[in-house]
Amino acid sequence: MTNWRLRGNCLDRDPELFFSTAAGDQARAKAVCTGCIVRLQCLRAADLEEAELVDHKMVNGVRGGLTGMERWARRFPEEHERILEQKRQSNERNKEAKRKAYANMTPEQKERDRASKAASNKRRRLDPKYQRAEAARLARRKMATA
Ligand code: SF4
Repeated sequence: MTNWRLRGNCLDRDPELFFSTAAGDQARAKAVCTGCIVRLQCLRAADLEEAELVDHKMVNGVRGGLTGMERWARRFPEEHERILEQKRQSNERNKEAKRKAYANMTPEQKERDRASKAASNKRRRLDPKYQRAEAARLARRKMATA
């Protein structure tokens, strides 16, 4: 183990947190990296290791305060932008399809749809996973405005 690793904030943290793909966990892992005195060394080491990878491979896990996707996006900005654009277009198509489907519904179908969405949102808000993600989102927003 290289010496700088022994000085990382994550040394006594659960490694699962750093390799989780859940947004809430990733935000918590990144919060651990914030203020880590070896953050730059850590990020540089990740960059060097990942530069060796072939086929534009992406490595999961938060290192140096960035997720695997964020480090990948730094290495391949054009490819990342192309993927984001594809997602934007796909979202637009989905939204348009939903809008058309909703416009063709009868008033009774629209009422059932509204009730079903309200029930689903209520269930989601009671889900501990959603509550953790929401707490992480609020913490990120607070950090961004501090
Ligand atoms: S920057 Fe993050 S992942 Fe890297 S050593 Fe520090 S706490 Fe650990």
